[in-house]
Amino acid sequence: MKKISVATPIVEMDGDEMTRVMWAMIKERLIYPFIEADFRYFDLHVANRDATNDQVTIDAANAIKEFGVGIKCATITANADRVTEYKLKGTSKSPNATIRAMLDGTVFRKPIMAKNIKPLIPAWKKPIVIGRHAYGDVYNSVEMAPHGPGKAELVFTPDDGGAVRRETIHEFQGAGIIQGIHNTDESIRSFARACFAYAYEEKIDLWHSNKDTISKTYDGRFRDIFEEEYRSSWETPFREAGIEYFFTLVDDAAARVVRSEGGFLWALKNYDGDVMSDLIASAYGSLAMMTSVLVSPHGWYEYEAAHGTVQKHYYRHLKGEETSTNSMALIFAWSGGLRKRGELDGTPELVAFADDLEAAALETIESGTMTGDLLAMADPNPNNRKVNTEEFIDAISDRLRKKRSE
Ligand code: NAP
Ligand code: MG
Repeated sequence: MKKISVATPIVEMDGDEMTRVMWAMIKERLIYPFIEADFRYFDLHVANRDATNDQVTIDAANAIKEFGVGIKCATITANADRVTEYKLKGTSKSPNATIRAMLDGTVFRKPIMAKNIKPLIPAWKKPIVIGRHAYGDVYNSVEMAPHGPGKAELVFTPDDGGAVRRETIHEFQGAGIIQGIHNTDESIRSFARACFAYAYEEKIDLWHSNKDTISKTYDGRFRDIFEEEYRSSWETPFREAGIEYFFTLVDDAAARVVRSEGGFLWALKNYDGDVMSDLIASAYGSLAMMTSVLVSPHGWYEYEAAHGTVQKHYYRHLKGEETSTNSMALIFAWSGGLRKRGELDGTPELVAFADDLEAAALETIESGTMTGDLLAMADPNPNNRKVNTEEFIDAISDRLRKKRSE
């Protein structure tokens, strides 16, 4: 079997806990035997981020800017517990938030659908894709906790020497909390463009929702910018493609989504997208059955799993107990990144490899070989059997080898 050589370096970001364990297995059994590439490796293990004062995360994001495509493992966002556990200097920012802030862009999350895993919501026949704005809001916020009475204000000082603007947020009578969030027209516009372009490419409707009745200025700006983009660039192509754009309030959208049959892109603000993508992933089967890609307006792509480091399984793994952790989302991060690399480089053999890898993974599940999270949801079948973390990857590897040697 001849290995496929990749023309441009690929940025690889290793991570933490159970996903780090699976990451190494995936590379060894599903990638290295088939692919020859210049992998630019960045170790985003929590201890290494701490030791480098997060420079390694910044270097990784810069490498994605240089080469265009990165593939990322899940990582710990260090809180107080983690500082004790890993003897860190301190808590740190979420590496995902750091990378997203540097690349800007939109995160698209799409369920991975296997024939024998039915969504918990029977009406859903097609994937619901979430387009999550990946910049700003609470993910780049400033917070304060005043300890007693006082006045909190929102102040804007223009660079051009114009009048300072001031709004009272609240006159505190006692202790409380305050948060300052922002977004930029530029980032919202690229979010809108990314969503229109994605829906058009996939020929699916675009739903957009937020709470502009309550947040007239902030959320209202999102609605206006989407509307402007639609009118100026997308109305005709959408009509010709037989797809539609519509805006509705986020609570109304949530109610409609449950009764829909799927098959559309749902554009959401950063926090709404964070919450809804987990809800949708678990309703489609498992957090591990969801792909996630950050699409930057500058043409950079970062592929990752939508779930975390699966801490509880890792602790069992450390104790020498058997785990049955699902590696699908990590595998699809690799296939997604390799496919995009192949498309950008014009190397169809790499695209074909990515297709084979995904097909081998899906056929493994559809043949009944699956991890515990899926077994609980799969259509009953005498062939169904639960395998452990490693056996699942090995079963995919066997199928992939057969496909590649055909
Ligand atoms: P998590 O890793 O997503 O896991 C939560 C639960 O979901 C697991 O305990 C497991 O349920 C199930 N699950 C998730 N992925 C699974 C998989 N691949 N296979 C089988 N089951 C899976 O979230 P967490 O445990 O709350 O967070 C752990 C760490 O991840 C935290 O330190 C957090 O900072 C980090 N995190 C990172 C990212 C990222 O890098 N993108 C995202 C979210 C969280 P059962 O225990 O019931 O089996
Ligand atoms: Mg989340």
